[in-house]
Amino acid sequence: MSERSVCPRCGAPISWVERQVKGGRVYYYAVHYLGYTKSGGKIRKKVRRCYLGPEAYEYVTRLHRDLGIVLEGAVVDRRVVHYLDAFVESLSRVELDRPTLVEILNKLRYLAQRLEGYVRKLEELEKGGVTKGG
Ligand SMILES: [Zn+2]
Repeated sequence: MSERSVCPRCGAPISWVERQVKGGRVYYYAVHYLGYTKSGGKIRKKVRRCYLGPEAYEYVTRLHRDLGIVLEGAVVDRRVVHYLDAFVESLSRVELDRPTLVEILNKLRYLAQRLEGYVRKLEELEKGGVTKGG
């Protein structure tokens, strides 16, 4: 990210984001670097951590807040459906001019075509008895 991200919890700039894996789950923390202290000849880094959530990229979500989109981790299979729901709902809340609406419409048409293509391919694979994944 070129811009400094702002912590969604406390509003302070995020120095870096820490990813911690505990018991197979991923947790994200915004780390605020507060300088260092010297004690007994030792230099210790002073940091404050804000919990961002399990598998939720909330620090990115902040950028999408006006559209009501909450980015979810890769584990949630239905995330695309949730994004789409949030997007559809946002259309009633955000004022859009005609050129923007036309642009969105064109993108959705293109998306619909691609999705139909994917679905057809998957259907062909299923008919052919080819197992997915593995
Ligand atoms: Zn914070």
